Amino acid sequence: MPTHFKYCKDRYDAVVIGSGLGGLTTANRLARCGHRVLLLEHHHRLGGLATWFKRKGHIFDVSLHGFPYGMVKTCKKYWNREIMNSIVQLRDIVFDNPQFSLKTTFDKQDFAALLTNRFGIDPKRIEAFFRRVDTMNFYDDRTMTTRELFEEFFPGRSDVHRLLMEPITYANGSTLEDPAITYGIVFSNFMNRGVFTFQGGTDQLIALMTRELEKNGVTICTGARVDRIETKNGRTTGVNVNGRTIGAPAVVSNSGITNTIYNLVGTDCFTDEFLEQADRIRVNNSSCQVYLGIRPDTSIEMIGDLIFSSRSPVFDSAELLDVNTRSKTFSVYYPKTRPGHDRYTIVASMNSRYEDWSKLDEEHYRLAKVALIDRTLDDLERYVPEIRAKIDWQEAATPRTFNRYTLHTRGTSFGTKFEGLDVSRSIFKQIGGLFHVGSVGIIMSGWLGAINYGVIVANDVDSYLRSIEKV
Ligand SMILES: Cc1cc2nc3c(=O)[nH]c(=O)nc-3n(C[C@H](O)[C@H](O)[C@H](O)COP(=O)(O)OP(=O)(O)OC[C@H]3O[C@@H](n4cnc5c(N)ncnc54)[C@H](O)[C@@H]3O)c2cc1C
Repeated sequence: MPTHFKYCKDRYDAVVIGSGLGGLTTANRLARCGHRVLLLEHHHRLGGLATWFKRKGHIFDVSLHGFPYGMVKTCKKYWNREIMNSIVQLRDIVFDNPQFSLKTTFDKQDFAALLTNRFGIDPKRIEAFFRRVDTMNFYDDRTMTTRELFEEFFPGRSDVHRLLMEPITYANGSTLEDPAITYGIVFSNFMNRGVFTFQGGTDQLIALMTRELEKNGVTICTGARVDRIETKNGRTTGVNVNGRTIGAPAVVSNSGITNTIYNLVGTDCFTDEFLEQADRIRVNNSSCQVYLGIRPDTSIEMIGDLIFSSRSPVFDSAELLDVNTRSKTFSVYYPKTRPGHDRYTIVASMNSRYEDWSKLDEEHYRLAKVALIDRTLDDLERYVPEIRAKIDWQEAATPRTFNRYTLHTRGTSFGTKFEGLDVSRSIFKQIGGLFHVGSVGIIMSGWLGAINYGVIVANDVDSYLRSIEKV
């Protein structure tokens, strides 16, 4: 049970700002190391973007569409077996667009077979492509773009480029112009063993994580928005919430990196060189989603777990971001998602620009959401005939929604582009005791990236706290 902020102590070893998967993991690891940890979350619920909401008996998952197999090992090692045991594979991944329609288990073997048999690519070329992306690592050359990588292996094959790129664009907002290395790392993670989900839903995952945090002694406060990170003589001294200061030698911000620098700390505390680097950070795009609850007396046929649906003639990053895009994913949640809960829900997700939504007045905003739902139902009709008669709840989220609930700059869904990582990793050199965890750069975003980054940052904070204990 969260503690009311007024009952928090005045001092902790570490304060974690934000309860996204990165913040939750850092808090848990630090508590396991024996530190006194306070976790502060501005929303009334833990999880950050790993969240859900209930309407009329339906439960809608916001970001549970699929993650790589790596989550199994990560959850076992850094959370617990119970969490690990709920991870199951999604078997029916569907692509449907004017260039091809196919179903795949989305693992390396199946992809290789599809590329050979369906797209007529020489198996040696496919092998060479997989070898190249498998061996890409963080320290590689960052000048080659994903477009150049695809052209090298599959010249002029826009259909193959689409098959390889579309899922990754949805997974992290990257484009063909991003560094090939960011593609390679994510692709090899996803393609290895298929796409996985959490049986029981996001609510169950966060409940299990909360239990683990409480067991390890983390003090959890929801509805507590941090206004400022306090610093003195180049070190952090704590945080300020609604006029009250909580002292701590270490502060970990799971708020966005740009938010952390410009709003929570303030530019006065950083060197010009660091700020120049921070100014160059580009935040990733945001998302729109449409949530559809199927009437309790109605079921829908198996049409796939995750459908990459598009009416665009070719893959086009700009079209995917357009407010009127006809490209979207449909995540279909059958009763098997939450055993014992007999509902069907469908969540449509689209990439989206904050600017397209932020400037609308309330009436135009409302109408734009109605139009978004309408276009989504038109597209879904192709897979679920007479869908309009089958739903009893429909609702849309936009970049404004994501901004409101997470406070992220421009409602970004996947943090920042690649350059955010160096800034996040070096902030402690600017302000002693201040650390950042959260989606920065493609490899540190998504559920797996955020948890893994949480572990890395917890190790840094633990070393820091031990080093100051000795002084
Ligand atoms: C629509 C959508 C679909 C997605 N689908 C997938 C998917 O299928 N698979 C996948 O792996 N990933 C997916 N993601 C991405 C994934 O959800 C995120 O990368 C990951 O959950 C981010 O974790 P994080 O640690 O960076 O923190 P976040 O989830 O970004 O959380 C940050 C937290 O900090 C809190 N906070 C911020 N400022 C303050 C403050 N001042 N005081 C107190 N609290 C504060 C916020 O309220 C929030 O709870 C999706 C994201 C979106 C938006």
